[in-house]
Amino acid sequence: MFYKCPMLLYLNKHGPQEEKEIHPIIKKRHKTSVPFLSPEFVKSEVKKTSNLIKKGNDIINQKWMSFNKLSTKIDKLKKIKENSVFGPYAYEPIFTRGNIPLRKPLVMEGVFSAYICSKFQDIDLNYFILQREKEREKFVISDEIDILLSDLPRIKKILEDNIDISPDYTRGCRVCEWRIYCRNLAKETSDLTLISGIGKRIKKELRSISITNVKDLAEADITKISSDVASKRELTYFKLQATAIIEKKDIIRNKVSFPKSKIELFVDIEGSSHHNFIWIIGCFIRDEDKAEYRSFLANSPKEEEKMIISFYEFLSEFKDKFIIYHWSSAEPQYFKQLTEKYNLSSNDLSNVTKNSFDLFPIFKENIILPLYSYTLKEVANWLGFQWHDPLSDGATSIVLFDKWYIERNKKALQKAISYNSDDCRALIIIKDYLIKNLSSD
Ligand code: SF4
Repeated sequence: MFYKCPMLLYLNKHGPQEEKEIHPIIKKRHKTSVPFLSPEFVKSEVKKTSNLIKKGNDIINQKWMSFNKLSTKIDKLKKIKENSVFGPYAYEPIFTRGNIPLRKPLVMEGVFSAYICSKFQDIDLNYFILQREKEREKFVISDEIDILLSDLPRIKKILEDNIDISPDYTRGCRVCEWRIYCRNLAKETSDLTLISGIGKRIKKELRSISITNVKDLAEADITKISSDVASKRELTYFKLQATAIIEKKDIIRNKVSFPKSKIELFVDIEGSSHHNFIWIIGCFIRDEDKAEYRSFLANSPKEEEKMIISFYEFLSEFKDKFIIYHWSSAEPQYFKQLTEKYNLSSNDLSNVTKNSFDLFPIFKENIILPLYSYTLKEVANWLGFQWHDPLSDGATSIVLFDKWYIERNKKALQKAISYNSDDCRALIIIKDYLIKNLSSD
């Protein structure tokens, strides 16, 4: 947990557990629990392990080991030839981890267990075994053991609530149960990581030169900062972003030339990540003063092809005299994916690609708002637009679609469509604001 995020360890041990809010997507899959066990329990489990080791079984499953108040539960222990305190044999630790990518928290979990395993048996073990679905991998831990040993005092302080710790609000926080709590904490202290693009390393560097919060950054003379981790361009952006937040106003950096067309299409596409298909292409069609919403739906993967064909047929009504406005690069990627998947005409795809305009990159490059992040919802909310259901977000929409897909809950589908139509309307609000404030014509 510490290697996922030190604050996560701290909050799971000492934080107000009632403030935890499980992300709707994760809630669908599993509930998390706080794995802090009593020393008595661990002691009796460790005793059981010792007894099994003394018996000398070839494999021992799911057992606890401990050393110096540190303990670990190991998926599998396999007997090897090596002298230990138990006799002319010892056990190597095996972790069964399916196909989870080998990121730092997983590596350090293995390192920690190998360390305890080695001390518990009084052997010199410098590896652990990672059991993937099909293969086994030996992971040598010589470098990582030093990292672990130097981090242990900090981990101990966190567990004892004997440390001053604050959240680094980064991308990894988006699906964390503590995201709302930590975001509020970060806001209270005006933490630097609230600024989009500032992560742990940049924060650490800025703090080392006494730039400790957003206000300090807004007032900083960045010409005097020589950074190892951020470019001058990034620092300029961070300062402007901090200034916009402190002064609560938008900052226009460059004028932009927008495409012109009588027919404007504001498109938002949603996929079902759980079931791996695109289920809606939502589109607000604006023709001068008239605006109308249309949705192209796939109720199941089987209907996905029909959905994209209907959308392309609908576009053909406008020849190539239309502009598609969208938010982020996801939409063009979805069109490409679907065109290739169903072997559709590349003309349809190029018609979409050449007439598409992504509104998202304009923010940051050309205009800065007093916001901590540039999601469609945050930007449109700042411009005064309200979703019909203010609590909904992209994740809720996925959950709503699941309710329709699995339980055939019609109300859930209607809500998901309504959310999509609001996303499309939000694009209209944003585009009109940009034209008003940024257009070079
Ligand atoms: S929200 Fe972010 S900082 Fe807070 S505990 Fe979760 S990952 Fe750590």
